[in-house]
Amino acid sequence: MEVRLATKRGFCFGVEDAIELAQRTVRANEPGRVAALGPVIHNRQVVEKLQREGLDQSGRLEDLPPGSTVLIRSHGVGPETYDQARRHGLNVADATCVLVKRAQTVVRQLHEEGYQVVMIGDREHPEVKGVIGYAPDVIVVDAEDDLERVLPRRARLGIVAQTTHAPDHVARMIGAIAALPFRELKVVNTLCLEVIRRQEAAAELCREVDVMFVLGGLHSANTRELAAICQKQGLPTYHLECWGQFRPEMVRGHRVAGITAGASTPDEVINEFAERLRAFPAPETA
Ligand code: SF4
Repeated sequence: MEVRLATKRGFCFGVEDAIELAQRTVRANEPGRVAALGPVIHNRQVVEKLQREGLDQSGRLEDLPPGSTVLIRSHGVGPETYDQARRHGLNVADATCVLVKRAQTVVRQLHEEGYQVVMIGDREHPEVKGVIGYAPDVIVVDAEDDLERVLPRRARLGIVAQTTHAPDHVARMIGAIAALPFRELKVVNTLCLEVIRRQEAAAELCREVDVMFVLGGLHSANTRELAAICQKQGLPTYHLECWGQFRPEMVRGHRVAGITAGASTPDEVINEFAERLRAFPAPETA
């Protein structure tokens, strides 16, 4: 069938840098002396490859002998993790993405300037868990219904967002916050342009195709956002990790398929999917 690819898709520089640092650190150390605090990225194939190369991704900092190296993932961590590593006598290889580092710095600065920091994001996401560690009592919000209950009245609010969130969702949240009684509002844009470009390219592609495939880890926040954006365009959308999850009925009745992929999806996965889908029998005969 006919297959079109989003003009911007797959690996971002933050993920590429994290994988490169992980591989370099493993090569430079004795076996078993490097561990990441959980899977380096939300992609099974890459995580398994790093595991085979000797990177422990179990996330148990306490189990590492002193002198070992702990790899901080691109999502970053709170300051207490750096303290803990120091107390255990561990070296740190820091793959925190520069954009996440910036969000951490902004949160600290907003607090120092006297703002009540508010983060628009998913409180269960590792990036958010890390960023909120840079100021006391950061309020995390992600739904308009919550706001009146959780935000203090007449406060000076300093607002940031999870880097991977969709701009229109963040804009709606900021609008809803601004409708409440506040003394001052300072908004710092912490959204990731890499993610925004993938979201724009996906929405654009949706106008040219009949069905969309969004490739990436099922736990990847930016991949899930991409899938939500495609669904909002009214297209049948499938969020899959790889070709193995494809089913013929997904393309039945469709002529042109679009493919996009989250920031932690390697080119090999995207290319294999595209090639196999192109070779797939025309939908009428499928
Ligand atoms: S998606 Fe953006 S913020 Fe996240 S790692 Fe990639 S470049 Fe950094």
